[in-house]
Amino acid sequence: MQLELENIWKSFDGQPVLRGISLDVVGGEVLVLLGPSGCGKTTLLRIIAGLEALDNGRIRYNDQDITQLAPYKRNFGFVFQDYALFPHKNVAQNVAFGLRMHHWDKPRIDQRVTEVLSLVGLAGYESRPIYELSGGEQQRVALARSLAPAPRLLLLDEPLGALDRALRERLMLELRGILKQAGGLLGRPEGMTAVYVTHDQAEAFAIADKVAVMRDGRVEQTGPPHSLYRQPRTPFVARFLGMANILSGEIVSRSPCVVRTEIGDLQIGDGRLESGPITDSPSLNILIRPEAARFAGGEVNEVHGRLQDISFRGRYQIITVALGDETQPLTLKFELETAVSLPPIQSSIRLSLDPSAIQLLESGEQSGEAVERWGDTAV
Ligand code: ATP
Repeated sequence: MQLELENIWKSFDGQPVLRGISLDVVGGEVLVLLGPSGCGKTTLLRIIAGLEALDNGRIRYNDQDITQLAPYKRNFGFVFQDYALFPHKNVAQNVAFGLRMHHWDKPRIDQRVTEVLSLVGLAGYESRPIYELSGGEQQRVALARSLAPAPRLLLLDEPLGALDRALRERLMLELRGILKQAGGLLGRPEGMTAVYVTHDQAEAFAIADKVAVMRDGRVEQTGPPHSLYRQPRTPFVARFLGMANILSGEIVSRSPCVVRTEIGDLQIGDGRLESGPITDSPSLNILIRPEAARFAGGEVNEVHGRLQDISFRGRYQIITVALGDETQPLTLKFELETAVSLPPIQSSIRLSLDPSAIQLLESGEQSGEAVERWGDTAV
């Protein structure tokens, strides 16, 4: 294990901000800390960097305890949202800054500057002044500068946060490739090990090998992007990943597993109820995944409702439907293929919900009201 965080606690003014965080990062892995504003991501990153003292816990790097090690002795690199470049120096001077501090000789500095600029897509930019560059180019320079000394861990705090949406999307696709290639270039064949902070789910998925979803100073779930997406454990994680069809219910049958909900009795999963902490309690939460709906009903899990909205998204369309009690319906959203032709808005419709796209969640705070509230922003 390259980086190990063990039971990290931190309070500010008596207010706990980190409450017992334990995480591991293996060599070459990109760990993304994902969570809403204020959940403690930046504080954790600063603690890893040694810029913030922790109250309790331990940090190890390659089995060495570095909890009390001075930041400059950790040999970690940083990339922040505000690029923190020297505006009146040129690109090469900015990238070379850390190398000079480490007393590299000039030919070696020049070679490394050329290599990392080419890696971040800025080959030939050496003599350009920083103030002439766009925001995206400046962030590439900041990335090149932090990679140049071949840090043993790269820490990135919302590095794309200041960029406009289109540029962010482009850079986030590129960034993962840059981190993976950087390892080979810098003599770390397993890839650059990195911890990356963001509150943006799409960015986390695009960049991460492993995502840790944080909430109120704790890690709520950790896993590779695809397994988090396939198996969110709690209502909070499901919602944060953009899946908002969460209903409370109670188990009325165990084989097949049937849960009574506000929109009717729904069969769940492959028909068998797994034992375990989730299902010990008769009342629970379920997630109906956005891809669960089949238009025009079916034999299993048929639900009736009113079509409230259709949002065209190219390869698929998102429908908003009001289901259940007509006076107090629940608003849910589903994705359907674009080829499915739908009746006019406000028509009554029948859907069937695929049991294999419905799953149990660990108990949480979510209720039908919250489904509607979140229904505006998520699917
Ligand atoms: P964001 O995405 O908004 O940056 P975050 O998840 O990174 O949020 P932190 O910046 O780690 O969260 O902050 C967590 C909490 O700790 C916040 O309530 C913040 O106000 C508080 N906090 C952070 N640094 C300090 C400090 N130096 N002194 C007092 N409180 C602080």
